[in-house]
Order: sequence, then structure tokens, then C-alpha cells
Amino acid sequence: MSAQPSLNRALQAAKGWHSGLPALAAFCPWPDDLSATDLPAHPLPAAKLIASDPGTTSPPGMALQQAITAAIPHLHWQHGYSAAEVGQDFLDRFCWCELIGPAGHFQSQTIRLTLAYWGPNLFYPRHHHRAEEIYSIVSGRALFHADGLPDADLGSEATRQHASNQPHAMTTQAAPVLTLVLWRPPGLTDMFELSQ
Ligand code: ZN
Repeated sequence: MSAQPSLNRALQAAKGWHSGLPALAAFCPWPDDLSATDLPAHPLPAAKLIASDPGTTSPPGMALQQAITAAIPHLHWQHGYSAAEVGQDFLDRFCWCELIGPAGHFQSQTIRLTLAYWGPNLFYPRHHHRAEEIYSIVSGRALFHADGLPDADLGSEATRQHASNQPHAMTTQAAPVLTLVLWRPPGLTDMFELSQ
């Protein structure tokens, strides 16, 4: 089965989500330099949890969640952390993929758009990166922490912005969380690093 139709549908759903959330549209314009790549699928156990336990969502979130779910088998899922850093249970129930970006399914040099999922009762340790970032909650909910900001318990359609190198962390409680995350330059190709 060809990957491209479901990846194209995920891309269009992400575009609709971006245009429908003012904070995302203000963060960066939708890229006009997109080209499809042949980035292969890379399965991870956690990706299946997006289908089985996506968390509750709003009607706009449902459209994106369904498009992501249909694309799961064709996406290049990653961890970016080792078990030594975050523990095996975390890796078993966490994954992300780069839909758009310098190394994404759709190449762009102007933004990076990742889809990321955490199962319930996980703590994503404090980390930072050079790129500015905005999280949006597609489904489920999570408690967001960041240096200099009060904690925020966020559900579908809520957003949270992080400045360049601002350390941040996240906790899921009873619910999982599925997020669409945007990065803008500089630092699109940098990896995130755990903060001291
Ligand atoms: Zn971040």
C-alpha cells in the first residue's frame, strides 16, 4: 500500500489545524517550500497506542487525530532519547515523528512540525533546545512546566509556547496526550537536550 495518500491527508489535516488555531498561525506561516520525501516508515510500539488510547478531543482535534491514526503505519517514529536517560517504560509509551522539516516526510527549511504522543502517567524530563517552539494539544491532556511560567493543565486546542533554550518539562496524569509541535529557526536541525 502506498504511503503517500495517507501522508498527504495527514499533511492537509495538519494544515487545517494550523490555520484554525490563531496561536499557531501567528507563530509561523504555513510553509510554501514543501516537497514530499521518501523517508521510510519506522514503527515503534508506542505509535500503536495513538490508535488505541488517543485521549478525548474536540471536533477539529478529531479530524487531525483520525488523519494521524490512518498514517501511523507510514510514519517514521522516533524516540530521540535512550532508556538510560528516560527509562524503558517512557520509551515504550512515547514517540514522535517529523511530518514537516529538514528531515521530515515533507521537507521544509522554514519550520519543523512534529507529532508527539505520551501515554498516561509519564514525566517528560526538563529539556531545552535552541529553536522556539509552540505545542498544541490534539487530544488528551497534560500538565506543562517551564522555567519562568506557571504550570498549565492543557487539553485539546490549547497551546503553549517556549522561548529559545527555555527549559521545559511535561507530566501526563490519567490521560495520554497527542500533540502537534511547531519549531521555527534558528536550530531546526538541532536535537533537544536534557537540562541540568
Ligand atoms: Zn521542546
